[in-house]
Amino acid sequence: MPLPKVAIIGFPNVGKSTLVNRLTGSRETVVHEDAGVTRDRKELDADWNGRRFLLVDTGGVDAADRDDLAQAIQEQSRTALGEAAVAILVVDAKAGMRPGDHEIARELQRAQIPILVAANKIDGAGAIPDAAEFIQLGLGEAIPVSAVQGLGTGDLLDAVVAALPPRDDDEDRDDAVRLAVIGRPNVGKSSLVNRFLGEERVIVSDLAGTTRDSIDTRLEVSGRPVILVDTAGLRRRTKVAGTVDYYAQLRSETAAERADVALVVCDASEGVTSEDLRIAELSMKTGCATIVVLNKWDIGDTDIDDARARIEQKVRLRPRVLSASALTGRSVGRLLDESLRLADKAAERIATRDLNRFLSDIQALREPPAVRGRRLKMYYITQYETRPPRIAIQVSDRGLITRDYAYFLENRLRERFGLEGVPLVIDYRGRGSTRRRDSQPVADSPAGQGDPLPFPDPEKA
Ligand code: GDP
Ligand code: GDP
Repeated sequence: MPLPKVAIIGFPNVGKSTLVNRLTGSRETVVHEDAGVTRDRKELDADWNGRRFLLVDTGGVDAADRDDLAQAIQEQSRTALGEAAVAILVVDAKAGMRPGDHEIARELQRAQIPILVAANKIDGAGAIPDAAEFIQLGLGEAIPVSAVQGLGTGDLLDAVVAALPPRDDDEDRDDAVRLAVIGRPNVGKSSLVNRFLGEERVIVSDLAGTTRDSIDTRLEVSGRPVILVDTAGLRRRTKVAGTVDYYAQLRSETAAERADVALVVCDASEGVTSEDLRIAELSMKTGCATIVVLNKWDIGDTDIDDARARIEQKVRLRPRVLSASALTGRSVGRLLDESLRLADKAAERIATRDLNRFLSDIQALREPPAVRGRRLKMYYITQYETRPPRIAIQVSDRGLITRDYAYFLENRLRERFGLEGVPLVIDYRGRGSTRRRDSQPVADSPAGQGDPLPFPDPEKA
């Protein structure tokens, strides 16, 4: 059973985002002075006295606004209500009752779930009486809160937890694969996310910057829980600080850090750009299993083999490359399947026996390099960490490893164990002493950088 959902409903600017931040203790939601910034639906984990639930922040409900986007948000609110166990109607106690409040209240009464009213912007004890008038909404007494000051939020959370249905036993089990959809603006991230969800959870719109906000959404793929970590675009760092895009970009980078798998979406009709490559590289470096998605395949004339070759040439850490079309739905299911497979691969531990067989095979296949008559010997290989996999190889002398040979070994390792797209750290450890610090740096692997020696110490054995 998924976690119960608590829908946050209300007009724009009553303080819903600020309240969600307060209640989840997170900075996930972008709060900005512009009205209507929080347009997409977000689901955020919340925890109160050990009870976990999801707070669903909807866009503002504005029945009077016939603009397309407002209508889309209104529909989203209804969907959120349909799935919610409890709803919180947020009203602005400073502004007082407004005509639309009654309409929303009537709509909420029809939802047949417990409804709480949070009278927000009650910034001090003196303002508490301002909450009283909202009893007229017919939803019981309003709970006075100040999202900005953090006043009354504990009482609100108590009321939420009291209104939730009884706890489900496996609510706490969370083995969800965390998936981030990242990439430049307009490559089709939102469209792809929509395809994944099979419903209009993310608003796709031709307006610029619709996907400004972070979205954590849960879904199920082949019976397994998946969390879509973020759909905001990775923007260039050169954006002016203080703008919404700037915050959204910072959060996108964090999204890759929080994810197990990242889909780096590109526009196949434009080809793979250097910015796409930069994002793919960043994603792999943060430890995400990475798939470069050549989206818009329906209009793309990029040759996938060319694109692969270009990526292999430019990106040290090999991502997987797949094509898809969010528009037609082609290969979209495969992206999800492949994401799960990569997540499993990154979490898998390869048996030492198999790795060592690989090590002897590879030395037979291509003799390790030699300098002035001294040939590199590789004695032992083992995996000492997962997610991402970290592999240590004990060698005679780190100074003898060449970049070429390290690449060769890494690529063969990927092929043999199906690790394409999985970030991999290969750590070469010198036997006995590791005096030769001035040796040629081996690829990007932080070779010998302070991890505990995973080998039985030959000196002591
Ligand atoms: P939303 O559109 O409902 O998500 O509203 P926001 O969370 O973006 O808040 C709208 C404005 O109300 C922002 O300027 C907030 O700083 C302000 N606001 C939110 N909560 C409070 C509060 O408890 N007290 C006061 N004084 N202002 C608040
Ligand atoms: P985002 O900014 O990365 O989230 O991109 P959007 O999902 O908003 O898509 C940007 C534009 O590309 C929209 O006009 C989409 O309809 C269009 N688009 C997205 N995916 C595809 C696709 O697979 N094929 C085609 N032809 N257009 C697409």
